[in-house]
Amino acid sequence: MTVYATPDRNAADVRVIRAAGDLVCVRCRLKSGDGDPADFPADGIPAMLDHLDFHTVVGDHVPLEAFVRLRSEYADLSEDGAL
Ligand SMILES: [Zn+2]
Repeated sequence: MTVYATPDRNAADVRVIRAAGDLVCVRCRLKSGDGDPADFPADGIPAMLDHLDFHTVVGDHVPLEAFVRLRSEYADLSEDGAL
């Protein structure tokens, strides 16, 4: 499992992981509304970057490191011709 952001690191307000190949914003408050916390599964790296942008818009702290890591992974995928 890869951890891109977690409250234990850099005071992030989100927990973003890749588990079994799936990118997930864990117990996402944007997705949860007034109900129980729910996970947001992103359909690829661009979708997760958009999602994290939205977290910053509403005032959540998303560490720069998380964006940098996702963007560099996405760039690597592009170089391999996977996209
Ligand atoms: Zn989220």
